Amino acid sequence: MTEPMHCYRHPKRETRVSCATCGRPICTECMVATDVGIKCPDDARLPRGARAGVMKSNQLLRSILAGLAVAVAGVPVVWVLFQLPFTLLLSAAAGYGAGTLINRSGGRNGGPIAISISVIATLVPFLVLMAPNLLAGSINPYQLIAPVVAAIAAGVANRRI
Ligand SMILES: [Zn+2]
Ligand SMILES: [Zn+2]
Repeated sequence: MTEPMHCYRHPKRETRVSCATCGRPICTECMVATDVGIKCPDDARLPRGARAGVMKSNQLLRSILAGLAVAVAGVPVVWVLFQLPFTLLLSAAAGYGAGTLINRSGGRNGGPIAISISVIATLVPFLVLMAPNLLAGSINPYQLIAPVVAAIAAGVANRRI
């Protein structure tokens, strides 16, 4: 049994249908059948694809918060990566994971904003850890390639499908 939901336009009406795009519950009167599923009137009105990469402000905020979390939590993760073998492979996996997290936090819209946040959030921990070596001019080439690989993977996780 799923919890009964209430139409976001008619809060007193129970429904079990929700919009394929934004996930808000909609009653049978409000729902619009489209070729990509049942949608709320707001999303059905927009042409297909118009919403991809367009974030609502709360989704943008959540993307930024997820990006900050990734940037902070990434520091110990990257530190460990640098101690392990297969740093490049692990960096790609970590970058993809970070990108996916940010993508989900932003309502899975993807697009240029999500890509930018993911790439920056992924690069920050590498830069933090590499800064002392960079300043000393004793950077290991692997440590320069790893952030690039991770950033590309983070961007790929946010591509539009
Ligand atoms: Zn909707
Ligand atoms: Zn309704």
